[in-house]
Amino acid sequence: MDLGIKGKRAIVCASSKGLGRGCAEALAAAGVDLVLNARTAETLEQTAQEIRDAYGVKVEAVACDITTEEGRAEVLAKLPDPDILVTNAGGPPPGKWSDWEIADFEAALHANMLTPIMLMKHTLPRMIDRGWGRVVNITSQSVKAPIPVLGLSNSARAGLTGYVAGTSRQVAEYGVTINNLLPGIHATDRAKSLDGGVVKAEGITMEEAKKRREATIPARRYGTPDEFGATCAFLCSVHAGFIVGQNILHDGGGTNATI
Ligand code: NAP
Repeated sequence: MDLGIKGKRAIVCASSKGLGRGCAEALAAAGVDLVLNARTAETLEQTAQEIRDAYGVKVEAVACDITTEEGRAEVLAKLPDPDILVTNAGGPPPGKWSDWEIADFEAALHANMLTPIMLMKHTLPRMIDRGWGRVVNITSQSVKAPIPVLGLSNSARAGLTGYVAGTSRQVAEYGVTINNLLPGIHATDRAKSLDGGVVKAEGITMEEAKKRREATIPARRYGTPDEFGATCAFLCSVHAGFIVGQNILHDGGGTNATI
């Protein structure tokens, strides 16, 4: 299917690896020019070059922390008026409700709620002026069904979800859609690090930890960044203009709910 977005320009945050990279690659495959971002310059530049080589699109790389005001300013200076914005950042650490102080919540809120909100605040006006735009926020299945050890993530992402629910309905009439894409377990460094936590806590092997988690997913496997990216690119396509303010699970059936 032709996604109809060849020549458009996208910012994809936190995209040197994992799900962000999956989204960047799928957009590049559809002919979209990219501004990529991550903190580690070397990995980011390598990803940027691999995407240039593979898809022949323009790719610029901005190495910075997207959860800071300065980082966001650097990315927006490179591309102040993207047609497509994919927000993403690292997820907060796991723990227990009694572990976290205000500073921990503030860090999670900056990373997983306020950063996407500020990026939208800066980019939506020009999308509205042009009469076309797409925003996809990478959130988590924990928005639909809380993951108890990820209380910081549950809290911050719930705030973003509420913001998107209202804002998406204020901008839809201008041809601008905002949706959230909710990953379940995917084979990325983040999943490895969470499995690593279980290995430490329970004294089992990495393979056993993965097997146990796969058993909780109806598809009986982890998702891939490629599958995730393809879904993101569809949401950014011309065909998805009537999908507004949705929270789309990409979790192999892991969230046990009727709707
Ligand atoms: P990942 O494989 O660890 O990749 C994270 C990417 O984000 C890397 O490119 C990393 O590069 C970059 N990054 C992290 N913090 C950043 C920051 N502050 N500023 C700029 N770039 C940053 O993670 P992932 O699995 O793709 O997860 C992406 C998001 O989805 C996370 O919020 C995660 O919590 C959420 N999620 C993932 C899963 C899963 O199973 N994978 C499930 C549910 C939710 P640098 O380290 O160089 O900055």
